[in-house]
Order: sequence, then structure tokens, then C-alpha cells
Amino acid sequence: MEMDKLVSLCRRRGFLFQSSEIYGGLNGFWDYGPLGVELKRNVRSVWWHDMVTAHNDMAHLPGAPSPFEMTGIDCTIIMHPQVWKCSGHYDLFHDSMVDCRQSKRRYRHDQVRGRWVEAKGQRIFVSTMAETSAEQDDVQRRALKYFHLRGKNADQLQWDGDFLTLPEVADLSRVLGPDAKSLGTLTEPREFNLMFKTFVGALGGAESTAFLRPETAQGIFVNFKNVLDSTRIRVPFGIAQVGKSFRNEITPRNFTFRSREFEQMEIEFFCHPRQSKEWYQYWRDRRMSWYTALGLAGERLRLREHDAEELSHYSTGTADIEYAFPFLPPGDFGELEGIAHRGDFDLRSHMEGKLDPNTRPLQLEVDADGKPRWRGSGKDLTYRDDLSGERYIPHVIEPSAGADRATLAFLCEAYTEDEAPDENGKLQRRTVLKFHPRLAPLKAAVFPLVKKDGMPQIAREIYAALKADFPVFYDEKGAVGRRYRRQDEAGTPFCITVDGQTLKDNTVTVRDRDSLCQWRIRADDCVDELTRLLKRGETS
Ligand code: ATP
Repeated sequence: MEMDKLVSLCRRRGFLFQSSEIYGGLNGFWDYGPLGVELKRNVRSVWWHDMVTAHNDMAHLPGAPSPFEMTGIDCTIIMHPQVWKCSGHYDLFHDSMVDCRQSKRRYRHDQVRGRWVEAKGQRIFVSTMAETSAEQDDVQRRALKYFHLRGKNADQLQWDGDFLTLPEVADLSRVLGPDAKSLGTLTEPREFNLMFKTFVGALGGAESTAFLRPETAQGIFVNFKNVLDSTRIRVPFGIAQVGKSFRNEITPRNFTFRSREFEQMEIEFFCHPRQSKEWYQYWRDRRMSWYTALGLAGERLRLREHDAEELSHYSTGTADIEYAFPFLPPGDFGELEGIAHRGDFDLRSHMEGKLDPNTRPLQLEVDADGKPRWRGSGKDLTYRDDLSGERYIPHVIEPSAGADRATLAFLCEAYTEDEAPDENGKLQRRTVLKFHPRLAPLKAAVFPLVKKDGMPQIAREIYAALKADFPVFYDEKGAVGRRYRRQDEAGTPFCITVDGQTLKDNTVTVRDRDSLCQWRIRADDCVDELTRLLKRGETS
């Protein structure tokens, strides 16, 4: 599928528009139009339904170590600035950074230095973080290793120019990262003010500086105690939140994939440290099957477990659910959701002060005077098991998904071009969005075949009956074949048509968007039939 076809369909049919388009748009910001808003609402509400409201806390679900509870929360976008200091976002998002996908190390973009070198017909940029005095030795040693050369063959290395800093190198695919074994592992740099700054109140000084949240997760951690104290919830349990997050990404791109304002659907799942590994596996698999059940079933979806060197020091497991978006080069996948075992890093950081993620066991990050670099709340965020009497800090499993990326993946997967017969039976090319019925913005459309003989009246009655329970659309304009095609483009799974036969036996035609099968039902049964058809695709 060519991406520009989907982009133009999204615009033409009102799924997505550039933000502030009449003023030329704003890079990294997107608006959802009349169909898009319904699609994205469905993504969010299906997620909330499946993860929170429909969760049966008395059932022992397949793969889960035990029954568990789920609940939700809705926090503010602007929180106490200390939250972001203890979470690590303040430090990590403070400079222009590049990440190494291989070593998982993070570097200040302008601090990475290196030299161009050529050997065996290949020209690469070998980078280093070594002190100036040791940098030539370091790049030489690593260049030899990369090209499989011995020290005595160092003359085969043809150095090109003096040391440069990374911002002077345009093509990152030819860069050997400071701790990497292969080329192209460094990400694009991320801006220092990845967190959007704002001011609270009338005075604009440093005292009133606050941030728009870069993730929803922290709101859950800081309310952990409130939720425990205001409910009878017991570990293991999860708290879910859906909401806007903001990141001042340097290079927003690929349609909505990397935006500056986006929506997240996150769960923090609290469990006993002893069981955390099993819970991690449970959530990883459960989240993967959620996407599969909603139609991302093919080879374009994959679950990628991070290997040891990619993991944060405190994490015993992280997996990404990835989708081969059509705008990526063949073989590349983009992250839809990350499922991370976060240990007790977050609760302890909010309790004691920011921990140093590079220590194991985790220790408080201290300043030059040995004082906590960022002070925690000092509140007790431990959990006491009232049955066993044990007190501990729960470990956390975090399935963190993006509502916009999921919506985009569902759009990409749904986009299909095939052939369907027109009203004369002649095959015509059609564009159809084959959404899962639970996600489809409209569940059905109702048409009178022609605008006479009382057909519109019957069709309007059916429309009124359906409208109370479902988002449906009424259309009596133009040839019926064109009306079908408009609904195919909107991804409407069923069309109900009132025709000549309806006048004789009170039956109507139901047409299935994907199979193009048509069958007749009694006009009075439309609500039951649509309920049945939509139930058929329910997942959990
Ligand atoms: P990436 O590496 O692609 O920037 P990330 O690892 O920083 O993503 P997380 O911090 O794990 O992402 O955020 C969780 C989820 O939030 C991601 O899986 C993604 O679905 C969504 N997300 C993160 N950043 C963006 C963004 N700029 N635009 C849209 N969605 C995003």
C-alpha cells in the first residue's frame, strides 16, 4: 500500500487533518475529523472496556498467575514539577540526546566526536566518548575491530579529515556509535526541551515553571496511595489511564506516528516482586493478542523482546509490540506499545528521591555533596498485605500504548483495494477500509434503493430504530452503487437497503462490506441483526 493514498483518503473522508491547516498547519500536530474522531474514540473505548470495565476480577484468566483487579484514573496534564525530576524525565529530556539502540546508552548529541575512516572499500564514521587525549586510540581500536583488521594492519585504515562532532555528520546510518558494534544504531537527536514548558499563574518566573506531561504513567504512580486508601483494592492490581501526552520531538514525521501532542493508553500493574516475571509475561502476551484480535493479525505485527543489553538496569524484561508501517523501509517496524518490567524504580523514586537507573541494586542519585539529587515526596508508598502481614514495595509491569499509533496501524491494515460489482454487475475497482466492526466509525448505513414509493419512509424508520443504539448513517442521494462505495471508504461494515421487495414482504437487504454477501432479513429485525453481527466479533 502506498502511504500517500491513505493520507489522501484520510483527508478526503475526514479522518485526519493537519492542525490549523488554514494557517499552513503546525508541524507535529494533527486533528481528527468526523470519521477519525469516532475511530480513535473506539480504539480508546475498546481498550478501556477490554482492560478495565469488562475485566472480571474473580476469574482466573488463561496465562495469569492469579485473579487480579483493574481500575482507572484520570489525572491532570500539568503536575507538580518535582514529579518529572523524580521520574527522570527532567534530566533525560534536558539536552539534545542521541540513543544507541544497541547499547542502550544515551549521549549528548554535541559531545559525541569521531572521525571518518575508509578500509576495505567502506567509509564509516567511528565515534567516541573518550577524553580528547585518548580519542585517537579509541577510534583506531574500534575501527580495526569493525573492519576485522589486526593492529599491525593499521596502515590499511585511511583516515579522512580531523575529529568532528556528531551534529556535523548528516548520515547517521554510517556512524559507528561510541559503544556499538554495528553501524546506524544511533537515533536521531532529541531536543533538550522534549518536555513542553509552561507557567502556572500570573507570574512567569522560574518558580512557576511547569511542564505538560510527557507520559500519563507518572500520574498513576503519584496516586498509587490514594487509590489504595480509597478502595478495597489489593495487589495484584492495575491502574489504567488514557490521556494526552506532549513531547517536543525534534523531528515529528510519518503522519501521526511521531507527533508532539498524542494520546497514551497506559496501565501500571502492581504485583508482588516474586511474581513480577510471570506478570510481565502475562501482560506482554495479553497485549499482543489484543491487537491480533482487532485485526492486526498478519506478518506486519510482531512482538520483539529486548535483549539483555537493550534493557534498563532495573528491568528484567521489556518487549515492544511493533507494526511494519508502510512508510518505513521494507523490513523495518515501528513501536506501537512497550511492555516493561519496571521493578520498584518509580514508587521508590517518588518515595525516597530519584534513583540512579544505572545502579544495581538501585541507589539514590546524589549530588556533589552526597545529598539526593532530586528529593522524593517522603510519603510511604509501600503496600501491606492484610492477609500475610507482609509489607513491601510492589513491582510494576507497564503496558504503555499510543492511541494515535494504534489508530494509524488499524488504518494502514484496513486499507484495501479490490474489485466489487456496480449496480449493473460490472466489476469496478474499489477502496475499502476493512476495520474490525468494533473499531469502525459507523456500524451500518441505511439506504432506500430509490427516493420514491415510500422507500425513504421505511428506511428512515429503520435508521431511527438503529440510531438509539449504534452510530449509523442515512443516505438517499445518488446511485446506490456509489452510496455503497462511500460507505466502503468509510469502513462501514454493513449496509441495509430498502428496495421493491420490502414493499411486498417487509424484508430488507443486508450487505457485508468484506465478503459483499447480501441476505434478507425482516425490517423489524434490523436492531437484533446488527447486534448479532457486531457481537460476533467481540474480543477480550
Ligand atoms: P519512540 O521510541 O518511538 O519515540 P518511546 O519508546 O519513546 O517511542 P514510550 O515512551 O515507551 O515511547 O511511549 C509509549 C507509547 O506512546 C509508544 O509506544 C507510542 O505508541 C506512544 N508514543 C510515544 N511517543 C509518541 C509520539 N511522539 N507520537 C505518537 N505516539 C507516541
